[in-house]
Amino acid sequence: MNKFRLAEDAHCPGCGGQNNAALAIAADEGGPKPGDLSVCGHCGALLEFTDEVGHVQHLAASMFKQLPLDTRKQLAHAQSHILRALKGGRL
Ligand SMILES: [Zn+2]
Repeated sequence: MNKFRLAEDAHCPGCGGQNNAALAIAADEGGPKPGDLSVCGHCGALLEFTDEVGHVQHLAASMFKQLPLDTRKQLAHAQSHILRALKGGRL
């Protein structure tokens, strides 16, 4: 996975946690682009990168339902992993 630095003033709209870095799932991906999806490492919120470089907003439930099944599964898997790790204090 590639790690990318994001805007220092970017925060999760769900928990307010600083969102200044991201990991790409695919090894050959570049930095996040507007519309790319993410999961907050502080609270597990499903997020979408906005047109403002490195910033995110909540992923609307209506948008989530329109995603391909494989993408929804990947997001749910990442969210589940993060939530389990947060409960165990490992993030
Ligand atoms: Zn969050």
